[in-house]
Amino acid sequence: MRPAILFPLFAETSALPGVGPALARLIGRIAGNRLVDLLFHLPSGVIDRTWQPTLSEISESRIATFTLNVLDHIPGRDPRQPFRVRCSDDTSTVELVFFHAKPDYLSRLLPPGTKRIVSGRIERFGNRLQMVHPDHILAPERAERLPAYEPVYPLTENLSGKALAKAICKTLEKLPALPEWQEKTYLAARGWSSFGESIRAAHAPRRETDLVPTAPARARLAYDELLANQLALALIRERLRTRKGRVLAGAGGLTARARAALPFSLTDAQEQVLAEIRADMAQPLRMLRLLQGDVGGGKTVVAMLAMLSAVEAGAQAALMAPTELLARQHLAALAPLANAAGVRMDILTGRERGAARDQVLAALAEGTINILVGTHALFSEGVDFDDLGLAVVDEQHRFGVHQRLKLQSKAEQPADVLVMTATPIPRTLALTAYGDMDVSRIAGLPPGRLPVDTRLVSLERVDEVVAHLRRAMARGERAYWVCPLVAESENLDVAAAEERAGTLRQSVGDRVGLVHGRMKPAERDAAMAQFRAGAAQLLVATTVIEVGVDVPQSTIMVVEHAERFGLAQLHQLRGRVGRGGQRATCLLLYQSPLGETAKARLATLRDTSDGFVIAEEDLRLRGPGELLGTRQSGVPDFRLADLAVHAELLAAARDDARLILERDPLLESARGEALRVLLYLFERDEAVRYLRAG
Ligand code: ADP
Ligand code: MG
Repeated sequence: MRPAILFPLFAETSALPGVGPALARLIGRIAGNRLVDLLFHLPSGVIDRTWQPTLSEISESRIATFTLNVLDHIPGRDPRQPFRVRCSDDTSTVELVFFHAKPDYLSRLLPPGTKRIVSGRIERFGNRLQMVHPDHILAPERAERLPAYEPVYPLTENLSGKALAKAICKTLEKLPALPEWQEKTYLAARGWSSFGESIRAAHAPRRETDLVPTAPARARLAYDELLANQLALALIRERLRTRKGRVLAGAGGLTARARAALPFSLTDAQEQVLAEIRADMAQPLRMLRLLQGDVGGGKTVVAMLAMLSAVEAGAQAALMAPTELLARQHLAALAPLANAAGVRMDILTGRERGAARDQVLAALAEGTINILVGTHALFSEGVDFDDLGLAVVDEQHRFGVHQRLKLQSKAEQPADVLVMTATPIPRTLALTAYGDMDVSRIAGLPPGRLPVDTRLVSLERVDEVVAHLRRAMARGERAYWVCPLVAESENLDVAAAEERAGTLRQSVGDRVGLVHGRMKPAERDAAMAQFRAGAAQLLVATTVIEVGVDVPQSTIMVVEHAERFGLAQLHQLRGRVGRGGQRATCLLLYQSPLGETAKARLATLRDTSDGFVIAEEDLRLRGPGELLGTRQSGVPDFRLADLAVHAELLAAARDDARLILERDPLLESARGEALRVLLYLFERDEAVRYLRAG
């Protein structure tokens, strides 16, 4: 349970004085609903009000503070005209401009003949100076009420900066004194202060350099967040690994038969990772291993041989794919190997219903199905394995830590878990998302694969692209045409894809197929089957084909509005072509003009085929959220840490987390107690539960 000391921070913002439901809703939109969210909503700018020039010094629009004599009031000629108040200092005059102002109110605020301190953005138009709606107006005897520096916060429509700043001020007042969870010597070495001082400093910037992620206060907070993340993963990892696993070591008969049926031999890289996986399986500990490898790198065969090892050892194995399409494709691709080995493989997805589903479930519970392929339906209620020994999760980036935990708890006897990702993940992100796992990597592609010739083409030249397609199709080649996601509405995407398929049919003939996310599964399978068989030579698709679709004969990939896709996603798409040994082309159609970042991103893709380089570059250019679509990526959303900048802190946090658990595995020391508070503060509650479960 969350420690009582944190209760105030997890109260709703609507409980703050002056924050009603409407304001709370607006704050919720930009920051979140609880005080802790406000605490972590750091300023993006700072206003310096210490600059006190004379009026004559003003040459350009700037924020400044003046002591002015109020001269006279000039009402607008009609209600739409602004109300003006003329003021002066010894050097010049200025007009303060008010729209929709009440004259009474202004008379009280700025009585003619008095002095007033006025702060705001001043502008010069020729000889005239004006300030529209000053930020602060005070009598000189109240001068100390003028803030010297004001933080500027990221806002959302209709939310006033003043209201938000006030709410954050109130929140900081409620910040309890928290126990120190970092080592004193470490703080001193880094020049960092306590959490409380750091968060207050982060909300009270004085200059631009206070706002950068490497500023001491921000760095300390980022480190706190990263340590919470790494400590949580390390805790989960310790618990899972020390939990008893089982020894899965077979005699090798089935895998030998499957290998004999392969039309190729494994590369050294594949042999290497297979050996790592089998060594883990043979240990009496639970395996929790990530298999990373580029698209088409040959992970699936490795997974199949590992599953056959589990079957040899007398257990069952499961392979979970992110989509039904992929599950069926795996089943088709792996069936020859299963047949050669003489094991029974079957499928379970959301589409298997009624009697068919019951049959699979019964065979699974009896143990007559050795390998079950499917979607997440594999791990839904009512699916009981007789004896699950190995669970393989394909295309891991769709699953987060939570799903991994769920998957493991499914197996009554602790199953080994192998997760595979085809999205190369930068080292920093891999650490934050998979710090709980051991990692194997298949570097490079199987032999005989030529790099895909990648070109950037402006959408204005779409006719030339179509002509190119027509010629290629006349030679019997097969191509994809991917239409972009318009984000808000899948219906719009589908409409765009349908329209594109229509115009392409007019120009290249009717051997054009279409797949999209709104089709019935049977229709989609039929369209895919036609493309696979060559009855359709051009497949127009929304990004449903993104992950893992394998039609070796396809040689051309066209991506429309490539600038709207993530680099990793484009890299995935490009990996769909050139799998059959022929020369392949990827045409990235972009809407010109392209911005600098967009240009740099697409150029990276054109210039390299190394997925890891691409992923690092995408992280650098766009940040982690955009890179993987944080919502579904399993990569946590960091609020204070910026992985593109804080990679060094992340590495330190990982080492720190390991050291902490070596010395104090149950977090029982004084620092351990404080670290529990840290875990709760950053909502790693789950990890603390693992501590107790022991
Ligand atoms: P991944 O799952 O890593 O994206 P796949 O396992 O689907 O890649 O492999 C891509 C293609 O390469 C498949 O057609 C597969 O049969 C083939 N392949 C895998 N390993 C080898 C190898 N060692 N030599 C030649 N081809 C291979
Ligand atoms: Mg794959």
